[in-house]
Amino acid sequence: MQADCVFCKIAAKRLRSKIAFENERVLAFEDIAPKAPTHLVVIPREHLASTLEVSPRTHALVGELVEVAARLARERGFADDGYRLVFNTNAAAGQTVFHLHLHLLGGRSFGWPPG
Ligand code: AMP
Ligand code: ZN
Repeated sequence: MQADCVFCKIAAKRLRSKIAFENERVLAFEDIAPKAPTHLVVIPREHLASTLEVSPRTHALVGELVEVAARLARERGFADDGYRLVFNTNAAAGQTVFHLHLHLLGGRSFGWPPG
């Protein structure tokens, strides 16, 4: 755990969040500034700063983030319509929290390319 990391604090339940799913490795919770009718953030409990820190050791963990997001999309009923998964990485992509996270956005249509 990184002491100054907001998502480590959420994972440790030192900061409140609306949790949608959790197990020993990953956690999904509601984004505080939702950009779609459903906007969840899926994180590993382990602190990795971004996709730049993904390595062979963490392949299964990152795959689990995607699987959890897909399962939540199905459970919430927008999987067939479609949904958006996003890993923002570093400043030009708008990353503001430097703990690896997968955005799950659903419940509306999305433009392409994103802004
Ligand atoms: P990113 O811009 O990709 O780094 O995404 C960080 C996301 O975390 C943003 O969508 C924020 O709204 C969200 N966020 C920041 N702090 C919290 C928090 N305490 N609880 C829930 N979501 C948060
Ligand atoms: Zn962290």
